[in-house]
Amino acid sequence: MSNLPSADTIAGRLAALRASMPEGVELVAVSKFHPLESLREAYGAGQRVFGESRANELRAKAVEMPSDVSWHFIGHLQTNKVRTILPHVSLIHSIDSERLLRLVAEEARRLGRRVSVLLQVHVALEETKFGFTPDEVISLMSPELVAGLPEVEIRGLMGMASNVDDEARISEDFETLRLTFGRLKTTVFADAPTFDTLSMGMSHDWPLAVAHGSNMIRVGTTIFGEREY
Ligand SMILES: *Cc1c(COP(=O)(O)O)cnc(C)c1O
Repeated sequence: MSNLPSADTIAGRLAALRASMPEGVELVAVSKFHPLESLREAYGAGQRVFGESRANELRAKAVEMPSDVSWHFIGHLQTNKVRTILPHVSLIHSIDSERLLRLVAEEARRLGRRVSVLLQVHVALEETKFGFTPDEVISLMSPELVAGLPEVEIRGLMGMASNVDDEARISEDFETLRLTFGRLKTTVFADAPTFDTLSMGMSHDWPLAVAHGSNMIRVGTTIFGEREY
């Protein structure tokens, strides 16, 4: 009867997700640990932005997929893997130290390109996650630092909320990220219209993230199903 794609296909789940997302929010389809066949199905359904969390996996998939895919790196980036991803990546979400920021700039210079990045800010309860604290990122960013690294375009912030059921805590985390983004946007980046991206929200919490100002969501499980590690 209906010609909508079925809800138990990747295309169907993507269509349902897109239909529930407000305008102005970008969807990163988090394809880590999923096979190429699943990425191709999403690509066939029009998805062009994919997120991966391991450097070798990103590279392996990037060389197999069509060249109009935008690859986003969302995992912890080890310094010795910067070179692996740089030729392929269009946005690195997970800059979590000044050292990594400088290294990415150096490698970009070597390749003769610019690279867009987000600064990862840690607000969640879990202690194992990477990222700057809000205070650290605010004190690190200065017009001098930004001007000295012309190869990196700092587009905004990425963060994750606590992995808890308590909606009040999740809201508080997203709000802290929104405020931190706003503070940078009105100071160091006041003259940088490209500082415009707040990446927050995953399968289970993206509607709340969007309610708190997210304009880029990173969704894996809802699209591709459970990952097999
Ligand atoms: C894996 C991952 C996601 C996607 O998580 P889902 O719960 O599968 O939607 C989003 N962001 C980051 C940083 C991740 O590592």
